[in-house]
Order: sequence, then C-alpha cells, then structure tokens
Amino acid sequence: MKLHEYQSKQIFSRYGIPIPKGRVAASANEARQIAEELGGRVVIKSQVLVGGRGKAGGIKVAKDPQEAEQFATQILSMEIKGLPVRKVLVDEAAAIEQEIYLGITNDRAAKKPVIMASAAGGVDIEEVAAKTPEKIIKVHINPLVGIKDYQTRDIASGIDLPREHWRAFGEILKGLWQAYLENDATLAEINPLIISKDNRLIALDGKMLIDDNALFRHSQLSEMRDTDEDAPSEVEARKYGLTFIKLDGNIGCMVNGAGLAMASMDILKFFGGEPANFLDIGGGASAEKVAAAMRIILGDPNVSAILINIFGGITRGDEVAKGLIAAMEEVKPKVPMVVRIVGTNAEEGRAILSSANLITAETLADAAQKAVAASKGA
Ligand code: GDP
Ligand code: MN
Repeated sequence: MKLHEYQSKQIFSRYGIPIPKGRVAASANEARQIAEELGGRVVIKSQVLVGGRGKAGGIKVAKDPQEAEQFATQILSMEIKGLPVRKVLVDEAAAIEQEIYLGITNDRAAKKPVIMASAAGGVDIEEVAAKTPEKIIKVHINPLVGIKDYQTRDIASGIDLPREHWRAFGEILKGLWQAYLENDATLAEINPLIISKDNRLIALDGKMLIDDNALFRHSQLSEMRDTDEDAPSEVEARKYGLTFIKLDGNIGCMVNGAGLAMASMDILKFFGGEPANFLDIGGGASAEKVAAAMRIILGDPNVSAILINIFGGITRGDEVAKGLIAAMEEVKPKVPMVVRIVGTNAEEGRAILSSANLITAETLADAAQKAVAASKGA
C-alpha cells in the first residue's frame, strides 16, 4: 500500500525527522487559510500516488495566500497520470541549497534492508541509478543490529555531506530506519532531503510503501488507504478477503490457492488462452465468498469464459458448488463456465452442479483446453 506524501511525512516527523510546517487541504479556500496561518511563501503540492508531480505541474510555490488559493484551484482540478488530485499539501516553502536522496528498501537478493543515498537527489532516482549508478551509495542493514553510527558517517562522507550536518543526518537516517521497521514498510524514502539556505536538513518530500501482508497489525495505516489508483474490482475483492488482480485477457479464473492459481494461468496460456485475472479465493472459502468472486469476475466486460479450478483440501467442493449456484442465480452469467473440482467433497459438489448449465472437466489440462475453446466461442 502506498502512502501519500503528507501521510509519510507525518510518520517521519514522529520519528524525529524535520519536515516543513504545513497541512493538507481539500479545497482552495482551505489552502488559502493554511497559507495565511503559515505566513510567507508556501508550496502547494498535489497529493496523488505517483511520482514526478513536480514535472507534471502539480507543485507550485506561491508568494502569498491569494496566489496559494489560485494555485490550489488549478492543482485541485488536475489529473496527474490519470489520477484526480483530491487534496493538496500546503507547506512552508523552503529555500534550497542542495537536494539529497535518502531511502531504505528491501534488497531481495541480499535478503536485507538496504540504505540508498545520493548527493544527486531531487530528480528521478531511477534515472540516476540507470545513468550514473556510481552516484548512489548503498549500505545494507543487519535488521537485528540496526543502524550503527559508523554507517551513518560512512554514508554522510560518501555523499560529501558537509561535516556540520553529519550528526543531524545520522539522527534522520536512524529515524527513517525506525519508521521503516515499526510500520512494516517496504520503502521509506526522502527525496529530496534538503540542506536549506539557512543550513538545516529538512525532508521536503516523503514516500512510504507498506507491506500489505502486515496491514492487519497496523489498523491506523490501513485506514489511510487511498483506493483511487486501484481497479474497482480489486477494491471490491479486498472487502471479501479475496486476493484478486485484474489482468487484460478474457478468461476469468476462480481458483483456490495462490500456487494453483498461478499454475492455472500458466496452463491457460500454454493452450493459447489469456487469463482475465488472478484470483485466489483462499482456503475454506464460503458460498458467500464464491458468489462475490463470481460477481467480480463477471463485472469485467472482457470475460468471455470462466475457468473454475478447485482443489478441495480445507475448501470443500460442496461449499464451492453451493456458492456457484447462488452466484449464478444472482448474476445470471451469459458466458460459458468450465468447472474442475477435485478433493474433499468433490462428488457432492459435482452432484450439486449437475443440474446447472456448466462444462465439467476431469484434469487441469482438459479444463484449460475447454476454457480456451469456450472463450473463443467454440
Ligand atoms: P515529486 O516531483 O513528486 O517528487 O515532488 P517533490 O516534493 O520531490 O518536489 C519536486 C521538486 O520541487 C523538488 O525536488 C524541489 O526542487 C521542488 N520543491 C518542492 N518543494 C519545494 C519548496 O518548498 N521550495 C522550493 N524552492 N522548491 C520545492
Ligand atoms: Mn520527490
């Protein structure tokens, strides 16, 4: 899950990282009020979950409250990379001496978190990584030990940070690590971390990604979720605890177990089909959950056939069958459906389904071939 800049910076601030004074506003009028309270120049920043807002015109420095209102009006009517701007952050404007990049993420290959820092901050760090990788310093963190002082000094020296800032930089880096660790983040990034003209280190921009699988222990964070960038079907699926990812093909897939779902998609492709989604209904799915899954799959107008592949272990074949029947009565699907149920209560499941208008299959290969043929109108 991505957090907005203002949310990330609020978290950073709780870990002692200096951020500019400011607040988020949902209207231009509110933006002007905040600008009046702050006094002086302010920066109006679109809050959308994409990078490169600056280049897209979604960040503007205003000289007075009136201009703040005017820019907020403009920015609040924008769409950036397809996402509507619903909120702006109004921050005290900073006078920038230097822009630094500082981030922590997981290095999967090294199986450790890694700190990345660069004196070439502000711009796209991906571009720096691609063109001048030597400008990025990387230091791994032993998660049991945390960040040591010698590491913060190595990094500060590696990015040629003036010595007077080393202590503050060390505190910021340690704060960023704690924010990353305690919130189960997969990314905590400050870009830019600036040295201001009045010689302070300030986190001007912030970005955090939170591990979805850890959200159950961060109820406050999960409430922050902005679903604007998610496909509506994915949002709906989340409500029912279904793991669903929309894809571009035309064969809807309803499978239990992530591995089996992947295998089902592979075999569909092997026989010349294109899956319309990844869907894991999970272990022990109830009839209600199956019905929700069916509705979500059929909500996609591209779907011209459905493959239902259930291996009954904890999930019971008869429960799935009941769910399918209930869903079919409710949504009246017009597309052909191929069903393969094996395992626990498969017989009972098949008996329930025998009256329904379904194509049955014995093996996965058989099911996939029938689904591909059905999707092509055979
Ligand atoms: P991003 O484009 O989405 O990464 O948004 P950022 O918050 O990083 O802003 C992009 C750029 O706008 C920064 O690198 C700065 O150069 C500039 N910027 C942002 N806030 C301020 C500010 O308060 N004062 C000044 N002068 N420039 C700013
Ligand atoms: Mn940025």
